[in-house]
Amino acid sequence: MNVAIVTVGDELLAGRTTNTNAAWLCARLTDRGVSVERVTTVPDRVGDIARVVNEYRAEYDAVVVTGGLGPTHDDLTMEGVAAALGRPLEHHAEALEWLTETGGYAREDLTEGTADLPRGARALHNYAGVAPGAVLEGVYVLPGVPAEMQAMFDSVADEFSGPATYREVVVADEPESALLDRLEAVREEFDVSVGSYPGESVRIALEGSDETTVQSAAAWLRERVTQSE
Ligand code: ATP
Ligand code: MG
Repeated sequence: MNVAIVTVGDELLAGRTTNTNAAWLCARLTDRGVSVERVTTVPDRVGDIARVVNEYRAEYDAVVVTGGLGPTHDDLTMEGVAAALGRPLEHHAEALEWLTETGGYAREDLTEGTADLPRGARALHNYAGVAPGAVLEGVYVLPGVPAEMQAMFDSVADEFSGPATYREVVVADEPESALLDRLEAVREEFDVSVGSYPGESVRIALEGSDETTVQSAAAWLRERVTQSE
């Protein structure tokens, strides 16, 4: 399963908020065997939200959108998603009922528009806040507040899956340029993908669909690189 993530918010683009939601979602999805193909951040603008959601839903199995829910003037995500799918926003009876009956909110206390979702959407309840999320046509719309986003994602996590991949990391205490021959050789010898991440030492990540192959590749490499103490 291939997924794209869209994070919405002017404050992310201005560097005032660190995009921890994207990192969290990438890790969760990858753990489930899902391949995350894109992470894109867009401003709080209906046209920009609609354009990327439309492009990505054609390209990927699912699109996860976070941020910009709720009824304030800068919360334009539902409008953008509705535009991308060519549907109007309308009161979602079931979302409203959940907020008043289970959520404990009096209907008159809820700001106008709180339970407006694109027509035909499945509502996602917000166990940690107010604004409901939505799913339709493979587009998952989640809140921006990290605790709310995480609880809501966990409620639909089972809808995201892919083949298990196995990963081993070998840390080499050599310059990356000196390792090129062995990086090439391990790829030739074993059915694994190889990532090399230089820092103070070089972290070599080996990944593949067969656990034994990945372990053998890691053992093979450990015998052939200078490892840090
Ligand atoms: P609310 O309903 O409370 O308005 P929301 O779903 O509209 O929430 P935003 O208004 O986009 O979400 O963001 C609310 C807060 O959540 C931001 O001030 C920010 O602190 C945090 N936030 C939003 N997006 C992210 C993100 N991608 N990573 C980390 N934190 C985020
Ligand atoms: Mg908001």
